[in-house]
Amino acid sequence: MSSLTYDDVVAKYEPVLGLEVHVELNTHSKMFCSCSTIFGGQPNTQTCPVCLGMPGALPTVNEKAIESTILIGLALNCSIAPFSRFARKNYFYPDMPKNFQISQFDEPICVDGFVDVEIDTDEGVKKFRIEVERVHMEEDTGKSLHVGGATGRIHGADYSLLDYNRAGIPLVEIVTKIVPGTGRYAPEVARAYVAELRDILRSLGVSDVKMEQGSLRCDANVSLRIIGSDVLGTRSETKNVNSLRSVERAVRGEMIRHAERLNNGDRVVQETRHFQEDTGLTRSGRSKEQAEDYRYFPEPDLVPVAPDALWIEQLRATLPERPSIRRKRLQEQWSVPDKEMSAMVNADVLDVVEATVLLGSDPTKARSWWLGEISRVANEKEIAIAQLPITPNDVAEIVVLVNSGELTDKLARQVVEGVIAGEGTPAQVISQRGIKVVNDDVALMKAIESACAAQPETAEKVRAGHLPAAGALIGAVMKETQGQADAARVRELLLKHLGQ
Ligand code: ZN
Ligand code: MN
Repeated sequence: MSSLTYDDVVAKYEPVLGLEVHVELNTHSKMFCSCSTIFGGQPNTQTCPVCLGMPGALPTVNEKAIESTILIGLALNCSIAPFSRFARKNYFYPDMPKNFQISQFDEPICVDGFVDVEIDTDEGVKKFRIEVERVHMEEDTGKSLHVGGATGRIHGADYSLLDYNRAGIPLVEIVTKIVPGTGRYAPEVARAYVAELRDILRSLGVSDVKMEQGSLRCDANVSLRIIGSDVLGTRSETKNVNSLRSVERAVRGEMIRHAERLNNGDRVVQETRHFQEDTGLTRSGRSKEQAEDYRYFPEPDLVPVAPDALWIEQLRATLPERPSIRRKRLQEQWSVPDKEMSAMVNADVLDVVEATVLLGSDPTKARSWWLGEISRVANEKEIAIAQLPITPNDVAEIVVLVNSGELTDKLARQVVEGVIAGEGTPAQVISQRGIKVVNDDVALMKAIESACAAQPETAEKVRAGHLPAAGALIGAVMKETQGQADAARVRELLLKHLGQ
């Protein structure tokens, strides 16, 4: 449907990004009251007069939420404001019981940070610095459920239900400055930034960062300008993109959509858009042509936040290893080439590979399973690896069975396939599918002897110490056993047989 290629777009236009990420903190209680934050409770069972916005109810700040936000700011290289304030952001929406959100406006708690990301390109690894404008605290809204109608949206619904369990859950909003200069790599940079942010937040332990459950959500602002121009184009804002892959697709899709409009002489409308997972396209949401007036004013029911400098330094001292440093450490420990390391990062398998190694697998084998067969299936099904029913434990178990000669590589592939297909643990798959390895040394010795008898000159060479010649004999044994034998064990037995 589109005649414009991505190459056409980046030959003419420079994309400018702006990324806003909302992250739900994992505190036990809400931002301004003591209600529970546990996910999935019966609707409206985790509420009180404060988070329901009853007249006269007074909020109190959650200290743990402030601590988490300061940690986030420090990890993102921000300055922590010695004095910041909450503000009321006024707007009407039924899932917000107070008709205002307590947020921060002109006095956010953290400012001026940055995040560095690396992208693997055809011209080598490229580094980009994403500057962070601010990190501020606010509260989440409730959830609306639109009943009736085909789409689950409010249009065409018969009625709507409201669940305020989520209302008042602590949210941290992280806003970048505008990000120019990423050129054709804008979609990958946006994805890498959200991935890096997610890894940093996870390492801090301040959120469960589950994009699919909405505890980390990204709004991607995209605009185009003619290359060489310094005038910013009109931006669109794609809301609540909920996977890394979708962040990349949304930015790329918007770049193409904007370019098509501009090439046709149409203007880009300033609006929010919604990303559609199935098509990879966005659809129009709310117009932002008229600047919204939220009538911000300082929240009169809360005192300013003025964190003690000593407390900030104490928190700084507890910062964990940076994900980028962890990657360098793992790369060294596993002796992985750059290219493969970034392949692992891009496929988002670093955590599972590390877990598999910690469970006793060697790094090379762990890597090749997760990056190979398992990633392939996930891509094919267009789902995240975490959604497949295979765990680091399963992979480690399979690697151990291969190393001990109980499975060949070929059979191990069948076991992995079975586990991914939901047939159970490796042991269950092996017994149900009747996967058996020939590890009967007597049977193997027979095959080895007949291979040596069939190729006496080759056997003689091996006996004389020319080990590469053994390959032909091992091949003959594998053929004889129809690939069911463990090649490493065959080699071992063969060399012993020939006095090596
Ligand atoms: Zn409450
Ligand atoms: Mn916000």
